[in-house]
Amino acid sequence: MRRYPGIVCWCLFLTFLFIYTIPAQAAGTVRLIIDEQIIDSDVDPIIHNDRTMVPLRIISEQLGAQVHWDGATRSVRVGLPAGHIRLSIGNSTAYIHEQEYRLDAAPMIVGDRTMVPLRFIGEALGAQVRWDASTRTVYVTGAKAEVRQITLQAELGREVVSIKGSGRIEGTVTRSANQVSITLPEAELIMPEGVYPLKGSLAQSVSVQPLVPGQAKGVQATITLIEPTPFTIRADRGELSIVFPYRLEQLDYEHKSGWETLTISTTGQVPYTVQQLAAPDRLVIHLPGIAVGPQVDRLNISSLLNKEVRVQDNPAGIDIVVDQNRVTKFHVDATATGLKIKFTPQIFGFNYETIPGGARVKISSSGDLRYHVTQLKNPDRLVVDFQNTILACDSPTIDVDDEVTTQIRASQFALDPDVTRLVVELKSYLTHKFSRGQQQGELVLELLTSPILGRYIGIDAGHGGSEPGSVSPSGLREKDINLDIAQRVASNLRAAGAKVFMVREGDVNIDFRDRPEIANRENVDILVSIHCNSFTDPSKRGTEVYYFRDGHGGQALASALHKALIGTLGLPDRGLRTANYNVIRYTRMPAALVEVAYMSNPVEEKLLADPAFRERAAQAITEGIMAYFRDH
Ligand SMILES: [Zn+2]
Repeated sequence: MRRYPGIVCWCLFLTFLFIYTIPAQAAGTVRLIIDEQIIDSDVDPIIHNDRTMVPLRIISEQLGAQVHWDGATRSVRVGLPAGHIRLSIGNSTAYIHEQEYRLDAAPMIVGDRTMVPLRFIGEALGAQVRWDASTRTVYVTGAKAEVRQITLQAELGREVVSIKGSGRIEGTVTRSANQVSITLPEAELIMPEGVYPLKGSLAQSVSVQPLVPGQAKGVQATITLIEPTPFTIRADRGELSIVFPYRLEQLDYEHKSGWETLTISTTGQVPYTVQQLAAPDRLVIHLPGIAVGPQVDRLNISSLLNKEVRVQDNPAGIDIVVDQNRVTKFHVDATATGLKIKFTPQIFGFNYETIPGGARVKISSSGDLRYHVTQLKNPDRLVVDFQNTILACDSPTIDVDDEVTTQIRASQFALDPDVTRLVVELKSYLTHKFSRGQQQGELVLELLTSPILGRYIGIDAGHGGSEPGSVSPSGLREKDINLDIAQRVASNLRAAGAKVFMVREGDVNIDFRDRPEIANRENVDILVSIHCNSFTDPSKRGTEVYYFRDGHGGQALASALHKALIGTLGLPDRGLRTANYNVIRYTRMPAALVEVAYMSNPVEEKLLADPAFRERAAQAITEGIMAYFRDH
């Protein structure tokens, strides 16, 4: 009974000794050599209960396996290129590729390291292990080379075909056209022979077979590529990889949908970094790991933003350099087959000038601007939004004092999406129109004021009341057609700022001899009399415009009306003529008489019966009047 405390003491002492003194004793006394290389391990092999225990992690990693430690279950998982090993501390049952395996001694922990019997390492990793008692050295010489699996992996910038297994997978790699052949004379084929699809953007398939039919040793693998592609070789324990870098295939530069876009086409998805550099201004797109294809040339660009695109090949990959005229905002869109660099157009400045009948705004830009126009009230202003543009302009406000505006101003209205807004404060205007300027990237906005603003214009609808004028075969009466066209003209003229005097407003009789006197009394600026023609021969047709030869400037008015009517209606041109009609002869202002078309002609009668045609005729007459006043 009295000896028990002593035994307990010894046990405690032994435990103490085991934890603290065994590693200290073993250190330096047992060497570990893997493939002729002395391995520096923080824990050296130990001899425990006559078993050589070796550190699992360092040997596994040296042989190309990955070790995961699970602290909760105190277990270790060793991942091999194909399969794995599982074991637990203190448990002499382990699993190799899920097959139960009895260890000579249970795995233990020494100095934070999992130690396993040397023989287990040999079995599990397929390595040859030897214990030399005389030199107290553990030799691990290469695991048996085995091919278990072939995989394709798309890494950024390259495609990698890996032959995976265990041991030293070594051999020769040769290329012929679009095939890469790998001969592994020492390796054993564990996977079934055959052709395996790879479905890469470069590598299509791989075939694996024994090097010599019927023999276990020696493997032949052949990768078939979509096209001949250069490669590099990456060797690791338990793995041999053929690395196919993606290639730069093509460079394109285009102006489209408001952007300037550089398209970099590659054979697969590539990693990239972009750097904006100064002096000289340039954008450098680094594409690490990729190669230049044979078809790639530098690009000359006739853009105000960018000058040229060139490719610099270097050992780490390639750089695509965009030499710039101006630095601008850009976006990079990465796709499965390359990059799109989109450069945001810029507006450099505005120039304003007053022109006869309006004003002209010249917008200088990098080109291909997309715009949207709105006219707003209170105060009257014209707003032009240039979509997807950056304002790079020193003086975006111009104060003006002319007929059109008091001020134009521009601002960066929005960012992302980028909108530049131009506001024109309007005094008056009728129409605007955009056109390309003479300079590259120049857009011209013309603001045309109404030439008839404040003018007093007399319109005379021929006939009326008991006097129908001509009557067409189907019963159309000239007085009605004339009045309808006259009313449409009056409405157009009023919308453009003119004051209008109608000689007759309704279906009333006004003697033709009184008409010039009525116009004279009103003191209108011009008089336009509207009629439709008729003739005994129904084939006679077309448009005529009359003036009085010795009238008060009627010829210029008649000429402007004639030009507009012929241009708009497209009926046969029966000419600009003179006549002695009262309404043009006795008026004291420029006066003209229009014969729109022939009511006696079946084609023109049909047209005159159509309100859409009458509206076109009214617009042509309005246009003729405006054209006349632009010059008078
Ligand atoms: Zn008439």
